Amino acid sequence: MLQKSSRSVVIRMQCKDIQDEPILRMLARNVGWCYCFDPGDQHASSYSSSNVMEVMPRGIARKLAIAKMGMLIRRGLADGCTCGCRGDFYITDKWREHLKKLDSEKLQEA
Ligand SMILES: [Zn+2]
Repeated sequence: MLQKSSRSVVIRMQCKDIQDEPILRMLARNVGWCYCFDPGDQHASSYSSSNVMEVMPRGIARKLAIAKMGMLIRRGLADGCTCGCRGDFYITDKWREHLKKLDSEKLQEA
């Protein structure tokens, strides 16, 4: 029988629980690369406009953020490095176009 322990209240976040769109929009908005710095990292504050962890749920582990980026890369939405370095992430041309299309459709609806 499963015992309810205090551990069960800890939310186990998974990649799929993190939204794609805010990340893709950040990648599309930035002219250069985006990075993955732990918010506690000394570099993080100066890179907040290009730190993908800023658009992910607060308090998640950097490891999970990198896993999420790896998922976007495997699906062909983004590119970059997930070895644990700063990442140098960017959106693929295909998805940049896709976001532009979404935005123009939204404008037409309004
Ligand atoms: Zn790397």
